[in-house]
Amino acid sequence: MYDVIIIGNGPAGISAGLYLKRANKNILIVSKMNSALKKAEKIENYYGVESITGDELYNLGIIQAKRLNIPMEEDEVINIGYNESNKKFLVTTVNNEFEASNVILATGTNRMTPKIKGIKDFEGKGVSYCAICDAFFYKNKNVAVIGNGNYAIHEAKILKPIANSVTILTNGKRMVENRDSSDFDIDESNIREFRGNNVIEEVEFENNNKRKIDGVFIAIGTASSVDLAKKIGALVKNNNIVIDENMQTTVKGMYACGDCTGGLLQVNKAVYEGAKAALSIIKNK
Ligand SMILES: Cc1cc2nc3c(=O)[nH]c(=O)nc-3n(C[C@H](O)[C@H](O)[C@H](O)COP(=O)(O)OP(=O)(O)OC[C@H]3O[C@@H](n4cnc5c(N)ncnc54)[C@H](O)[C@@H]3O)c2cc1C
Repeated sequence: MYDVIIIGNGPAGISAGLYLKRANKNILIVSKMNSALKKAEKIENYYGVESITGDELYNLGIIQAKRLNIPMEEDEVINIGYNESNKKFLVTTVNNEFEASNVILATGTNRMTPKIKGIKDFEGKGVSYCAICDAFFYKNKNVAVIGNGNYAIHEAKILKPIANSVTILTNGKRMVENRDSSDFDIDESNIREFRGNNVIEEVEFENNNKRKIDGVFIAIGTASSVDLAKKIGALVKNNNIVIDENMQTTVKGMYACGDCTGGLLQVNKAVYEGAKAALSIIKNK
């Protein structure tokens, strides 16, 4: 049981971790190790640092956190729930489950929408980004999940007891090895387009095969902050998590910081917001 679970170990997550740990909070950072920072060839606009590669700056943050003995789990978060009985958040990863009084979302902006003809046109008309939010609308219908990883399987598992059929479409990618993947019909063909009249009706593949579907759930790569926030009912606007002046989302006890809150997508803003989220939690106790 933790005081705070931080999801993400980029500048926002590590910054929050440093403040919380120094305030003696029992914390855990859970993260996949693919911060946007690692893609930056050179950072030359961060205070006091003349020039550094993104990878170097990222590693300095990790080293600093490790020196403070901040526990870090390398894992992928696939769901956040709330246990009403003990008033704790339940963070589900591919390999584990953790409970905490507060959660900080610091997972950057990695939401991926596949560039497939028709997807954008059918958003809200058969295309969904959240199985737990929208599965109910597809009772006894035929649905597909686009993705090839653990997150896609997680979404498919939510849909399975409700929908008539669930097919995972990997769009040309190999499905990851997962103990639950054999429970689903998996089609690895490349997708050409989604079609329909007003609502989505069918998917056509590049091999000219077609499949009738009533809904498509996008679950590519890893669940982003926005995906995770939506699952627990936090407000999201224009693909950014809505926060108040204390970095708290519309769900009490859940905070967000860094790229996932929108605005300036820069290291200095991520570091500031991480610190602010941490200090808000410290102040509330
Ligand atoms: C090419 C490029 C160049 C850039 N150049 C600059 C620059 O010159 N100056 C500057 O200030 N900024 C620059 N940036 C932006 C900067 O990298 C970001 O603003 C910053 O990294 C945001 O920090 P963050 O902590 O919010 O998110 P991130 O650094 O993206 O960290 C998010 C973390 O969350 C983890 N995560 C995501 N989803 C999950 C999940 N479901 N489960 C577990 N973990 C998860 C990721 O693995 C990652 O570790 C650049 C970005 C790019 C891509």
